Amino acid sequence: MTEKIADAVARRRTFAIISHPDAGKTTLTEKLLLFGGAIQLAGEVKAKKNRVQTRSDWMNIERERGISVVTSVMTFEFGDHVFNLLDTPGHEDFADDTYRTLTAVDSAIMVIDAAKGIEPRTLKLFEVCRLRDIPIVTFVNKLDRESRDPFEILDEIEQKLALDTAPVTWPIGRGKSFAGTYNLAANTIRRSDDDVVPIAVNGPESEAVSGLLPEHEREMLVEEMALAREACRPFDMQAFREGHLTPVYFGSALKNFGVRDLIEALGAVGPAPRAQDADSRRVEATEDKMTSFVFKIQANMDPNHRDRIAFVRVCSGRLERGMKAKLVRTGKPISLSAPQFFFAKNRITADEAFAGDVVGIPNHGTLRIGDTLTEGEELLFRGVPNFAPEILRRVRLGDAMKAKKLKEALQQMAEEGVVQLFLPEDGSPAIVGVVGALQLDVLKERLKLEYSLPVDFEMARFTVCRWISSEEKGEVDRFIAAHRGDMARDLDEDPVFLAQHAFGLNYEAERWKAISFTAVKDYQ
Ligand code: GDP
Repeated sequence: MTEKIADAVARRRTFAIISHPDAGKTTLTEKLLLFGGAIQLAGEVKAKKNRVQTRSDWMNIERERGISVVTSVMTFEFGDHVFNLLDTPGHEDFADDTYRTLTAVDSAIMVIDAAKGIEPRTLKLFEVCRLRDIPIVTFVNKLDRESRDPFEILDEIEQKLALDTAPVTWPIGRGKSFAGTYNLAANTIRRSDDDVVPIAVNGPESEAVSGLLPEHEREMLVEEMALAREACRPFDMQAFREGHLTPVYFGSALKNFGVRDLIEALGAVGPAPRAQDADSRRVEATEDKMTSFVFKIQANMDPNHRDRIAFVRVCSGRLERGMKAKLVRTGKPISLSAPQFFFAKNRITADEAFAGDVVGIPNHGTLRIGDTLTEGEELLFRGVPNFAPEILRRVRLGDAMKAKKLKEALQQMAEEGVVQLFLPEDGSPAIVGVVGALQLDVLKERLKLEYSLPVDFEMARFTVCRWISSEEKGEVDRFIAAHRGDMARDLDEDPVFLAQHAFGLNYEAERWKAISFTAVKDYQ
């Protein structure tokens, strides 16, 4: 069994794609899935944005706005590897969902638009990856269009992200004359009209290369490549794995060119599932016993079955259908009777899963974001983050008779990570917190559809919230006693200070030196 686990772990690559909207994430995802045979026709993923009824746009809001609100996972095989691609919502209002998903991957592909370079959301998502030292493979996309000079793009990555670059391929021509890529180390080319087998060549001057370009561009390529060889870093496995260096590939997702390079690179140099830190110890992916954590909950994936799926990242061992796991938060057993794998369109029952795999576990509210499942060991994975919301609202309910139902509904929504819920210490009505305004729309829509609770939101007296803690015994209690009207409890009953504005927060922080006010909390 140990050997089987080690083999399975070595084959797995679990990754996400990070990019700014419009850089080409959807197009690239679709092409990657084509390679893996997970979808038959190009256009499937893209069509998601327009189709009238599909599983992923179960919510009107998503359909209306043409954005993918939900995070999902797609599993496919290519060569000797099993790839788990974790999709993330494109819209920044759902950023906390994306950050949570990034805790479940081992590597990421960063897609950059060749004409635009590093854009704000790429930068933000990259910073989240850096916090966890996630190795990044870079794909410079849209080379078939008017593009920037490749050196300029490499330079921008180095400057803006403080990340070393190692171009593995070099574009042969750009825009209309984009004809393929040249692998700098291997001295092979891939032509955009047939990229299956790389062709060995004798440098950029050789006929096989120059023949692909109009005459006036040949010289430029020779010069660029000479400079690239001279000035650019070679690929360094250790620096890549530590998150200091990114190998860079050029291509066009739309033309399905350069995508093969990427997937081969992920297989060859991408990391297998990493060891994960738990509170008591570090858990190696190849250990015998199953451990896993919940990073995402999704409700209503199938409009015909009101189900709730907890997405679990397996961290070690073998998750087997029918096994009993321990839910460490409550100490209770949970039966994993129908774990599921997801493909582009379908889901199937998973008989077994290994570290790096993501399985969906149907449940009726037993599992929460951040939960750890084990075969009995008392350990908790840390690091699925909770971000202090930037928008706080009171929920206004037309029908006072339904207050209890609302309370239950809000609790469930908070457990799923749709919103955060704060219950004021003074007993006043609940406050919901979100990172982006669209989350409020989702909450409103779901309360209406699933609970028949029409609600509105009104401004809360507060605009800022922070979790509080202290090394000094009794200090938190003293603070709470002194601020009862401005205190609330979150879902875990941890104390949260609500301030009217940032100034008020700073004022209290000055006065209460022994209290830490934090904007990020790890789920536990
Ligand atoms: P996302 O918002 O990052 O998911 O981006 P999409 O994949 O939806 O792409 C945004 C737009 O750029 C669409 O119109 C795509 O057809 C186009 N696009 C994506 N990749 C390429 C490419 O390699 N070349 C060109 N010319 N257009 C592309």
